[in-house]
Amino acid sequence: MEDCIFCKIAKGEIPSEKVFENENLLAFNDINPKAKVHVLIITKKHIESVKHLEEIDAKLIGELFLAAQKIAKEKNMEGYKLVVNVGREGGQVVDHLHLHLLSGDFWFNKHQL
Ligand code: 5GP
Ligand code: ZN
Repeated sequence: MEDCIFCKIAKGEIPSEKVFENENLLAFNDINPKAKVHVLIITKKHIESVKHLEEIDAKLIGELFLAAQKIAKEKNMEGYKLVVNVGREGGQVVDHLHLHLLSGDFWFNKHQL
């Protein structure tokens, strides 16, 4: 979608520190990390939020979690958090579905979710 930062990152129009990429997904480091490791995993398809998911997206969302698992394994993460913010009230700032993968020195271990 035009004017969507994450679509622009997916197309390479805005640079990012790429961690993983396949046909459907892209993972890159968060520009403002909230933990020692903070990766964002996005669908290349523009989906605004979990609210906008449809039945047809079920497989893609499965792939999103499996990508998180793969990245976590590659980075030897013992434990980690996966976070999806939904809507402004839920802390979502970028309106393109993304999964936060966070590990080590959590900001929010001191501020429980
Ligand atoms: P949200 O609050 O929508 O769940 O998370 C959006 C995340 O995207 C934030 O953690 C923010 O730091 C990150 N972010 C926003 N703009 C950019 C950008 O241009 N590049 C990267 N790498 N991360 C971004
Ligand atoms: Zn988008």
